Amino acid sequence: MKRSSLAWYVAVACLGGSLFVGPVVQADSPTTVKASSIVPTTVTTQAEQAALKQKQQYQAETETMGLLWMRTSAEYRALAYQGYNVAMNLVKMAVADPSHQRKPLAIVLDADETVVDNTKLMGESIANGNGRFDAPWWRQAVHQGKSQAMPGAVEFLNEVHKQGVEIFYVSNRYAPVNYDATVQNFKELGFPSVDKDHVLLFEKDSDKQPRFDAIAKKYSVVLYMGDNAGDFPIGTKGKTLAERNGIIDAHKEDFGTTFVVFPNPAYGSWVSALAKGYQNLSPEEQKQVNNQYLQQ
Ligand SMILES: [Mg+2]
Repeated sequence: MKRSSLAWYVAVACLGGSLFVGPVVQADSPTTVKASSIVPTTVTTQAEQAALKQKQQYQAETETMGLLWMRTSAEYRALAYQGYNVAMNLVKMAVADPSHQRKPLAIVLDADETVVDNTKLMGESIANGNGRFDAPWWRQAVHQGKSQAMPGAVEFLNEVHKQGVEIFYVSNRYAPVNYDATVQNFKELGFPSVDKDHVLLFEKDSDKQPRFDAIAKKYSVVLYMGDNAGDFPIGTKGKTLAERNGIIDAHKEDFGTTFVVFPNPAYGSWVSALAKGYQNLSPEEQKQVNNQYLQQ
């Protein structure tokens, strides 16, 4: 009962707001579940509070090195520049290719950890012993407007805009509570095309495919960019770890030609794919799962 209560709380917390699918629900970025009305939003017993605290601390420890790498390493910056350089070359090739001219050109990109850097916000939380980035935490972070631009992102986006190619931000930030704050933050960062037609957040369906399809009806999409397999139109939503890897293998020729991937060792669907209900396992259970993979 204790664990199921805790799991329920966690599920609700994720749903409640922005759905940061960060270390909590680990979907595409913001959580995948819609805010539902009926859930308790507080942990009620001392035992539940202690278990939650233990989990927050454990997740902070497991995320520390990945997040440190993103925040400090020359290699992470280099990979960001590499991603934007590859993308820019593909955009310019498309602009020069007359076979594309039947429809206007567009690129489709995720936001968090693709052009927007949230590692400072997560790092501060981890330093305070909380690696569990639930919806209330994420909503507060979004509304503070402190998301930063990734290295090279502003220059890349403005050059794409200058080339006359449309930019669509397809993000799973939860629109009802995070749309206005997101638009304000992106504008302050100097991103182009920040308006209701181009910023497509999660409203009713966390699967991005319907949003991809709607864009592709009107535009020739030359490029998809993201830090999560769900940022690409290849059907990984809800798939197991083995299925996800199989789908990626089947699309191996698209990476660097139609898809550009950014690294994210801190959070993502790759974590929730480790085991069914992985996010709701106890630290001890997660360690068992982790060790099985490490020793394969
Ligand atoms: Mg992302």
